Amino acid sequence: MGQDNIIGLSREDLANYFQSIDTPNFRVQQVWNWLYHHGVTSFDRMVNIPAPVRQKLEDSFIIARPTVAVAQTSNDGTQKWLLRFADGEEAEAVHIPEVDRGTLCVSSQVGCTLTCKFCHTGTQKLVRNLTSSEIVGQMMVARDVFGEWPSPVGMRHVSNIVMMGMGEPLYNYDNVAKALMIIVDNQGISLSRRRITLSTSGVVPMMQRCGEELGVNLAVSLHAVRNDVRDILVPLNKKYPIEELLDACRAYPRANNARRITFEYVMLKGVNDSPADAKELVRLIKGIPAKINLIPFNPWPGSDFECSTPQTISNFSDIVFRAGYSSPVRTPRGRDILAACGQLKSESIKVSKSKLLKSQPTEPLPQSLDAA
Ligand code: SAH
Ligand code: SF4
Repeated sequence: MGQDNIIGLSREDLANYFQSIDTPNFRVQQVWNWLYHHGVTSFDRMVNIPAPVRQKLEDSFIIARPTVAVAQTSNDGTQKWLLRFADGEEAEAVHIPEVDRGTLCVSSQVGCTLTCKFCHTGTQKLVRNLTSSEIVGQMMVARDVFGEWPSPVGMRHVSNIVMMGMGEPLYNYDNVAKALMIIVDNQGISLSRRRITLSTSGVVPMMQRCGEELGVNLAVSLHAVRNDVRDILVPLNKKYPIEELLDACRAYPRANNARRITFEYVMLKGVNDSPADAKELVRLIKGIPAKINLIPFNPWPGSDFECSTPQTISNFSDIVFRAGYSSPVRTPRGRDILAACGQLKSESIKVSKSKLLKSQPTEPLPQSLDAA
């Protein structure tokens, strides 16, 4: 048997494996605990597993994380890791420390097939989807950096996850779902679903499933209140226009006043930032348990937008706030190391669709290729 990475396999995958080697199912729990509670990187450490079983594990699997190709620390404490995967492709993960929490911004794809005009990642064509192993691996690298093994009970450096790194998570749903199921498992990494937020640019057909199966918080990249503007900023809007997107938000399972949907709105000077836009926003989201996260535009080399002025952002925020919605302005973090929202990009090169499919015979077709 080849040497697959055991990180990223589901409990069910492990159960099937142990069944195939005639080993009782309780070994799943033991191995799981070593991998995801203790964070061990060698089968030798699994002392309650009999040596012959450990040997079989060793013959079949490796325990591997992505390697950190470049680590950078911003002057505000934000850390960005360029992670390299087994095939040499790369993606970035970012850790944002705050007083009472630490948020890990996780990538779901190498690059992105979508081409939102204001986003650096969008200028890099998708190379491929990340596997569940590579998504969980980002969390494990961060845990390694902070020495957070075994899973701490109290305050954690990596206490929250936002699926807001490179890529569109709902175009890589199966791998993202598998990874998040591992991350929330309370016998392992044990992060509450309430501490996980998945951000989508508006992949309407996948939103219901995301809410039902994953139960994570949803953030929606709205960014405009008129279809003609959103068609340009977020080209996916041509496929799933604002009305359909908001209907899907209204139907999002488990959204309520205690668990609101976050609408992300990037503030672009003269494009989407007028008082009339703010009023229209309020009208559009009526009836949705929502908060609005205003994101000052983060520039990147070659970007052709400007950030709205602080006064404009503040006026916009006031209008939304007065209508009864929380409307915080996201403080840009890690701008000096291009780690802020929309600044991530790796140098992985585009490969053709045919090559991508050939290189991933066992993976489901990336839905993104069909929808791009
Ligand atoms: N693909 C997903 C998640 C990744 S992007 C999505 O689009 O939602 C995370 C957030 O950063 C999104 O709201 C995105 O629109 C925003 N963003 C992208 N480029 C940005 C930039 N240059 N400045 C500020 N926010 C940006
Ligand atoms: Fe992709 Fe999100 Fe960037 Fe749009 S904003 S290009 S969906 S990563």
